[in-house]
Amino acid sequence: MSNNKTPDITRRKFLGGAGAAAVGTAALVTSGTSDAASSKKTNRWAMVMDLRRCIGCRACTVACKSENNVSLGRFRAVIQEKTFGSFPNTKKMFLPLMCNHCAGNKKDGVPPCVKACPEFPGDRAKFKTADGKTIRYRKGATYKRPDGMILIDKEKCIGCGKCIDACPYGVRSFDPFVKAGGDPTKQAADKCDMCVHRVDNGVEPSCVNTCQGRARIYGDLNDPNSEVSKLVKEHNLARDENVLLPEEGTDPHVFYIDPDNLLKTLYTKRKKGKLDHFVDQIT
Ligand code: SF4
Repeated sequence: MSNNKTPDITRRKFLGGAGAAAVGTAALVTSGTSDAASSKKTNRWAMVMDLRRCIGCRACTVACKSENNVSLGRFRAVIQEKTFGSFPNTKKMFLPLMCNHCAGNKKDGVPPCVKACPEFPGDRAKFKTADGKTIRYRKGATYKRPDGMILIDKEKCIGCGKCIDACPYGVRSFDPFVKAGGDPTKQAADKCDMCVHRVDNGVEPSCVNTCQGRARIYGDLNDPNSEVSKLVKEHNLARDENVLLPEEGTDPHVFYIDPDNLLKTLYTKRKKGKLDHFVDQIT
């Protein structure tokens, strides 16, 4: 079901050639990846969700499943419907959810899912920067690539589920059709990988390419001329009000344009703990 034949020239331009660099972009390090340290040499992939433009069509959800062969009954990217207020003063929002490709807390730059992985830090890995330099970093079954992508190596995964429990956003789950390479009696963890196979070839993620309303914008936060950087600056998105669960200190890299402060409303209504279970509400 994988469909890798979606290079759109305009969108390629949007990525500004940075995707090719991402094959290698790298910085760092021993345990985590310091965004500050890597910012001059690497891309820092991020996503902006424009809540003004999402119409809840779920083309992104379907595109993601098709592109990544996401197994039956599972999702990597969903749209949740939220309603607020009481009749006749009600509001409805469509909330796109996926892995936030968190930078991790400021102290060690390691997201909670990576920190919980018993296989991390594991093997040393190399990443080539756009200018051909090699930078080393440490992998695990779940690990943070120097360009900010949080990835899963299913061959190394032992199926313990600790990363699933550790993610405060509930965006990880077991894939019943993929065995954990480290313990083939168990299922491997799975989640959004930002269509790394596309991005590494200069093509934006499938959900972004498919979004008819242009509610999803993807790009390099380290490039001040990228659309993502411009939107973050224009809408002042790098603050607690524009990310999910800021109190978790995960430094999410999915930002929301939310002029009606619906996220804030959602937070105040939220009970302590995870967001609603990461289950799409298509019925
Ligand atoms: Fe890890 Fe969850 Fe953050 Fe994704 S959203 S990087 S799975 S903590």
